[in-house]
Amino acid sequence: MPEIFAFPENHPASEWIRHAGSGHIPHAQLLISQNGGLAWPAVQRYVQSLVCTQGGCGACDGCIQHQQMAHPDVHYIFPVVASASGSGTSDSWIGEFRNFLKFNKFPLVRNWIEALDGAQKVVQISVKEAKRMGDLLSLTSHSGGYKILVIWLPERMHESAANKLLKTLEEPEPKTVILLVSHEEDGILGTIRSRCQTLYLPPWGRAEVERWLIDTRRMDPNQAKVLSALSGGEPGVALDFLENRERLIPLAEHFVEWLRLAFKKDLPGLQHWVDGVGSWNREQQRDFLVFAGGLLSQLERKRHQALRGFALDWFPEVPFNADGFAKLMDARKVAFMHQTLDDAFKDVGRNVNARLVFFDASLQLMKAF
Ligand SMILES: [Zn+2]
Repeated sequence: MPEIFAFPENHPASEWIRHAGSGHIPHAQLLISQNGGLAWPAVQRYVQSLVCTQGGCGACDGCIQHQQMAHPDVHYIFPVVASASGSGTSDSWIGEFRNFLKFNKFPLVRNWIEALDGAQKVVQISVKEAKRMGDLLSLTSHSGGYKILVIWLPERMHESAANKLLKTLEEPEPKTVILLVSHEEDGILGTIRSRCQTLYLPPWGRAEVERWLIDTRRMDPNQAKVLSALSGGEPGVALDFLENRERLIPLAEHFVEWLRLAFKKDLPGLQHWVDGVGSWNREQQRDFLVFAGGLLSQLERKRHQALRGFALDWFPEVPFNADGFAKLMDARKVAFMHQTLDDAFKDVGRNVNARLVFFDASLQLMKAF
């Protein structure tokens, strides 16, 4: 996996990666970025610095093995489809995972679930993985250097696996490094979080993503402006919008419809709307809530004339009076609506009946207007 991404000097990831050469490596670290953000490329660079004797040169055997995700001292644990017998572990999916990361430098959870064909299944770090974690860390290091465990999405860890991990964190083996990469901090056991050194990676930035889209994707500058605004400054999100515009059209339509119905206080209409969204799968529902949150923030900024390109411009087939709705917004309303979306997002994650969640959210939205 050749290096494609250079971190800007002033980004916290750069400082962290430089620190990998210091020799003082915390045993357990939790890296948090948004889905589609910079956490994954940062971890790859960091691990490269740990396995290389020359500060992550990119050309030695250790670096090349790591770039191919085949370094004998670097192990990956990530959520997979729980099989009927409950034996699904990440080692049986490592080929798919390598391939996935080759085409997804800033991976999105949803795209991994799609790659697993797991939309309607339980996708998690399984109970069986607990034993594997222990086994991996008790192996002797091949290179005589660090043994490294990279865990993507600890928020999707089965409780037994989480308890096993907790034990490992409490009694660290020498020269082991555990790197947890999360996009949903609230989903991780508090006892695990408290044992990790935590690093938050902010978005790369809208202006940076815009420039990057123009430079590396040869994108039309106006399109790049809209996409980067929509992405919240996270490159993986921008790429996802670019590659999956069709998939997003129903989300845009439902957002627009939702606001209209709530504004008109059209209860039967909302009921019908809830039936539609309620029939989607959980990942689509969570996607929708994230997407709706992004659009709300944009409406708020549009009201202040602080917006350079409105996300719905990306969907000319979805008519929407953005200026009209922006005028209806104020800081208090927007905060209340964001809270409503956040609550719904958590409830959908907790497997609460989706129709109830969205109906309740619709009532809240109505109240906000
Ligand atoms: Zn090297």
